[in-house]
Amino acid sequence: MIIDCHGHYTSEPPAFIEFRKQQIAAFTDSSKAPAPPQISDDQIREKLEPAQLKFQRERGTDVTIFSPRASAMGHHVGDAKLSAEWTRICNDMIHRIVNLYPKNFIGVCQLPQTPGVPPENCIPELERCVKELGSVGCNLNPDPSGGYWKEPPLTDKWWYPLYEKMVVLEIPAMVHVTGTCNPAFHTTGSHYINGDTTAFMQFLTSDLFKDFPTLKFVIPHGGGAVPYHWGRYRGIAQDMKRPPLKELLLHNVYFDTCVYHQPGIDCMTKVIPADNILFASEMVGAVKGIDPETGHYFDDTRRYIDGSTILSAEDKKKIFETNALKVYPRLAKQIQKQGIAASA
Ligand SMILES: [Zn+2]
Repeated sequence: MIIDCHGHYTSEPPAFIEFRKQQIAAFTDSSKAPAPPQISDDQIREKLEPAQLKFQRERGTDVTIFSPRASAMGHHVGDAKLSAEWTRICNDMIHRIVNLYPKNFIGVCQLPQTPGVPPENCIPELERCVKELGSVGCNLNPDPSGGYWKEPPLTDKWWYPLYEKMVVLEIPAMVHVTGTCNPAFHTTGSHYINGDTTAFMQFLTSDLFKDFPTLKFVIPHGGGAVPYHWGRYRGIAQDMKRPPLKELLLHNVYFDTCVYHQPGIDCMTKVIPADNILFASEMVGAVKGIDPETGHYFDDTRRYIDGSTILSAEDKKKIFETNALKVYPRLAKQIQKQGIAASA
């Protein structure tokens, strides 16, 4: 089975996007508060079929671990109440999609984070999504301020109540920033990659995983700059008298394959053990076009794993399937519940 652990709902019907615009406008003028978006199943199908579903079928991937559009989480927009309302609507929409296409998608939830508000604020929504909607993971934003990095690092006790709940629920987090309101950063080009790299460096300098030996994080977008600079990070850890990275982090930290070219995947798979890599494409998302050098979509990441001469067949199976089942403890049961089977 080919499990794509990183997909977002980026093919929303226009009414859904319009609702969010009105919701934000109503934050400063409550007379403009919009009614919840009225969207039919057909309107959802109409946008999803020629996008994520088409690419899943064409590329021969079986199921996508699917969450709301990350750049639209907008934790820095409005206040905690607005974040909670928007998050609930987004998570309910993912649940609806999973019900419409149970063979294609498994849900992961957005969290109602807000700058300056303690993360335990997210626990009720996390529990609702896991227990009622079948979410197998959550997206955790290390920078709810949207590019200004005002929160304590992910390793600070500030985050611990949320981690305690994640451990009890057996829920891993994908470290995922949202859109940036800092004009110095491009959302998907630099802010995302910064978030990934920063989270890894935070983990390296802390004893978080001594406190939470079973807590798991997926660092997406190929782990940001981490695999390319693996020597730098190993060296920094050594200078700091930290344990070797493998021992320190690789029981808890995983990387996805959202690196959009073969040389990038080759670099990653040479330095990161196959046990710590999860297949992902993040389609339809950051990069939508076709690579003129290969004639294939940049985000058709299955090609880079299939085409790897570095990975063994056993490694490829780990990356496509078994690592995801290990990192997302609720996944196997959810696959069975939704009747998902490998296509080939
Ligand atoms: Zn993403």
